[in-house]
Amino acid sequence: MSKNKDCFEHPGATSAGHPGGHPHGKGGHPGGHPGGCPHGHSKSEDGTPELRLIAWEITRSCNLACKHCRAEAHEEPYPGEFDTEEAKGLIDDFAKAGNPILIFTGGEPMLRKDWPILVEYATSKGLRCVMSPNGTLLTPETAATMKEVGVQRVSISIDGPDAESHDEFRGVKGAFEASMRGIEYLKQAGMEFQINTTVTRGNLGMFKDIFKLCEELGAAAWHIFLLVPTGRGANLGAEVITAEDYEDVLNWFYDFQKTTDMQLKATCAPHYHRILRQRAKEDGIPVTFENFGLDAVSRGCLGGVGFCFVSHTGQVQPCGYLVKDCGNVRDTPFPEIWKNSKVFNQFRNQEEFDGKCGVCEYHKVCAGCRARAFTMDNNHMGEEPLCSYIPVKMRNKEKK
Ligand code: SF4
Ligand code: SF4
Repeated sequence: MSKNKDCFEHPGATSAGHPGGHPHGKGGHPGGHPGGCPHGHSKSEDGTPELRLIAWEITRSCNLACKHCRAEAHEEPYPGEFDTEEAKGLIDDFAKAGNPILIFTGGEPMLRKDWPILVEYATSKGLRCVMSPNGTLLTPETAATMKEVGVQRVSISIDGPDAESHDEFRGVKGAFEASMRGIEYLKQAGMEFQINTTVTRGNLGMFKDIFKLCEELGAAAWHIFLLVPTGRGANLGAEVITAEDYEDVLNWFYDFQKTTDMQLKATCAPHYHRILRQRAKEDGIPVTFENFGLDAVSRGCLGGVGFCFVSHTGQVQPCGYLVKDCGNVRDTPFPEIWKNSKVFNQFRNQEEFDGKCGVCEYHKVCAGCRARAFTMDNNHMGEEPLCSYIPVKMRNKEKK
């Protein structure tokens, strides 16, 4: 049953075109766990949690028009993006904040011409670099360049098992075929890749076929992402699954992961960490790294706790879906924002949480999706709207 042992846990990294989509570097994970990093909470001497992962939107421009896009990205250039020298300065600051994995995301990160220079520079600073392109712009040459400059893994989003379903979701005819071609180029270049899939009502019934496709393609991992209805995704309305569907799909996921050796991960589905523990208890299986890989030792939502997002204009946020201004790297050095942001510090303290998540006994391993709480209920500290669990403390209170 042991999986996900060799990649770093991640939260909603989210490139605009591929939700939450980030590929995990393979080389173990920062903090050198197991041991020393339960629930993604390793801390530095001054009590600041260890930064494990940064999603950096190097450009917001994108050549696709995906239905769920948080950034509602378009192809034209966006004003205020960093030039190469300024971007290198930011990489220097990232390296000062710890030893995070750096996700080059977008928009479509490959639309930025200097991406190889930036990856190479970040790699030279000791940062592990991964990329989340949409795959349509890959060529044999760019795939080889990725390998050359030190990209450790690439994530590609596939939301349906065939051209019809995937193109419908992506909003561009031919997107599926282009992504398949891109994956072939990655394989030829010897680049490791993972597939990300956004869960919607529309593709719930296609999961087995999507997984089969991942196997056939030789993906290193398959990550499913629970939709956050924000940006263009806010119009998906009926596509957002309910709390009950959510419970079903995550229980299915728990069972399904036992049947394969591929790395599977439910991302931006914080209460999977609760469900895993409930089910493991029923099954009499200890929740250890040996049995459940990183799911056993990390927290569901790492936004502001081990992860953050930096926008194309330098705005720091808990994640790409949660547009909360936690400071701008053009005004305040990045390590200071990571340490001092008011929102990040709220996320690091259960007492700051409202509703169920504030009293839940699973809080330390879950914490609920802050972006869904904000988008659906306008309170970033509120309870996760798509969790049907009633914490023990609340049940006890009802009984009295
Ligand atoms: S109530 Fe909140 S913390 Fe508890 S399992 Fe649900 S989402 Fe997680
Ligand atoms: S707030 Fe939600 S979308 Fe953002 S990292 Fe946490 S779980 Fe993922």
